[in-house]
Order: sequence, then C-alpha cells, then structure tokens
Amino acid sequence: MKIRIESARCKGHQNCIRAAPELFIVGEDGYARVRGSGDVPPALKEEVLLAWANCPEFAIEVEDDEQ
Ligand code: SF4
Repeated sequence: MKIRIESARCKGHQNCIRAAPELFIVGEDGYARVRGSGDVPPALKEEVLLAWANCPEFAIEVEDDEQ
C-alpha cells in the first residue's frame, strides 16, 4: 500500500495527522505531507483508511497493491 497527498486539494485540516501521525506530518505551511516515501507498513493499514475517511477534501490517494 502506498499513499500520497494531492497537494492542490489539501486544506490543512490535519485530520489525517490526528488519525495517523506515523504516516503524515504537517509542513511549515500548515498543510499535510506524507512521511517518507509513502509506503505503508501492513500494520498501519487501518490508520490509512481512518485518515482517508476523515479527509473532507478527498486529498489522500491510496494505492492498494493487494487489489
Ligand atoms: S485531512 Fe485532508 S485536507 Fe486536511 S490536512 Fe489532511 S490531507 Fe489535507
């Protein structure tokens, strides 16, 4: 699984960071960033789905390589 943020959509609510602080950080501009490469360890899959569901701008893209 891999994640990325569509930066043009991100409005900086930071719901994603609250849902999955291991995967998202806030940048100096107040908008969210993906930590590292965006590759998600299997143990954090639930956190990704929680972050995705809580992003009101649909700014989080999730690529699930199991499908
Ligand atoms: S919840 Fe969505 S819009 Fe808000 S900071 Fe996170 S990615 Fe950006």
